[in-house]
Amino acid sequence: MSNFAEKKPHAVLTPYPLQGHINPVLKLAKLLHLRGFHITFVNTEYNHKRLLKSRGLKALDGLTDFSFETIPDCLTQKEGDGDDLKQNLYSLRESVRKNFIYPFRELLARLHDSAQSGLIPPVTCLVSDGFMSFTIQVAEELALPIALLIPYSACSFLSILHFRTLIERGLIPLKDESYLKNGYLDTKVDWIPGLQNFRLKDLPDFLRTTNPNDSALEFIIEMVDRFHRASAIVFNTSYELESSFMNALHSMLPSLYTIGPLASFLNQSPHNQLASLENNLWKEDTKCLEWLESKEPGSVVYVNFGSITIMSEDKLLEFAWGLANSKKPFLWIIRPDLIIGGSVVLSSEFVDEISNRGLIVSWCPQEKVLNHPSIGGFLTHCGWNSTIESICAGVPMLCWPFFADQPTNCRFICNELDIGIEIDTNVKREELEKLVNELMVGEKGKKMKQKAMELKKKAEEDTKPDGCSYINLDKVIKEVLVKKN
Ligand code: UDP
Repeated sequence: MSNFAEKKPHAVLTPYPLQGHINPVLKLAKLLHLRGFHITFVNTEYNHKRLLKSRGLKALDGLTDFSFETIPDCLTQKEGDGDDLKQNLYSLRESVRKNFIYPFRELLARLHDSAQSGLIPPVTCLVSDGFMSFTIQVAEELALPIALLIPYSACSFLSILHFRTLIERGLIPLKDESYLKNGYLDTKVDWIPGLQNFRLKDLPDFLRTTNPNDSALEFIIEMVDRFHRASAIVFNTSYELESSFMNALHSMLPSLYTIGPLASFLNQSPHNQLASLENNLWKEDTKCLEWLESKEPGSVVYVNFGSITIMSEDKLLEFAWGLANSKKPFLWIIRPDLIIGGSVVLSSEFVDEISNRGLIVSWCPQEKVLNHPSIGGFLTHCGWNSTIESICAGVPMLCWPFFADQPTNCRFICNELDIGIEIDTNVKREELEKLVNELMVGEKGKKMKQKAMELKKKAEEDTKPDGCSYINLDKVIKEVLVKKN
């Protein structure tokens, strides 16, 4: 075996197989690589094919000490199944829960054989998405340290840690469907340390179920029950940004490290070997960056609902006309699968109305867009990546949360950070027109912009050498990932 192979630490990183999970895990992989790790990055076969097809994995050739491996998602799509099972959140979650551990074990056995032959360094640690909590068991079997990267905000993570207590107190599951509408979700959860200003409706929406055996709820509870067995839990946030939630969390779990925002870390080393390694499941349209060049600084509304949100055609039309009537330039990302049951057809009247004021494309390099000087505001679904990327770019938000942790992030953005305004779920064009104007030229919008710029600066300081997150990343490496016994 070569000396090289013996010395280099080797981390195996495994994201949950969705875009919003692959992104932060890849960012962490890049940071560990910059700090001298050999990296194995594990995708599902299906996603890896998509990444290659969309040319999402650029610059694969010539990578040293960074390789991709795949495991099957164990979902068999039969002809006539209708829905794409591999995209179906329920079937994916159940397969992660029940099947993924077997191919993952086999993969680690293969990596062990390769290391024995001196081809790669032996695996020394696992770094997994918190949603891939089955990997803790594999780490235990192999006596390897494991760090879990939480793809959520600390605020949402704190909320889900209390789900079991909510069940024990009889607050969830809901007694019946009427509880979704009768004001029950306005019940405060001020007895949860750190969540004094939150209501049931602000917590991750997995609790909005009447079914005691709801699979999403079970998945969350199962995952939470395993967290204390991880060697470390790391967050894509900074202590400064979420100190009240982190303080509450520290009293519940050991070995927590805030190492974010990961986006801000990487913005500071733009010329590293892995800078061009991207990971889009959809093909990126870069002409929007050229289009942004033609616009005034801070003038464009950027609209993107992430990789999972879907909506009815009626809602899409309310958004479309709200944007058009605001008379502000906008860049709108409409994924081919955004509309429930069909593709988007916008009328010629709409297309004429927006002429060169609006641009619609199907997928974009979001971080580059957010950091473009022409962007003045972000209409978002409040996914945690989008939220933290917007903060890193100093861009205030209009919030239209769709599901999962998004209501919690929305509350955090609008009520704790004061850098966003919430849009009613049942969005109407008149309301949107008014809010877009408030965001882009109103007094509140100006204040939010100022606050967002302050947070961007803090994020940069946190991730510079001597910054809190920088120090924490070093600590998690030394204290957990390459700890010498
Ligand atoms: N993203 C992108 N281009 C797009 C849409 C999304 O690069 O056109 C990226 C975005 O930067 C973020 C991720 O996809 O990193 C979406 O994650 P998020 O948590 O915001 O939402 P989700 O897709 O999980 O709902």
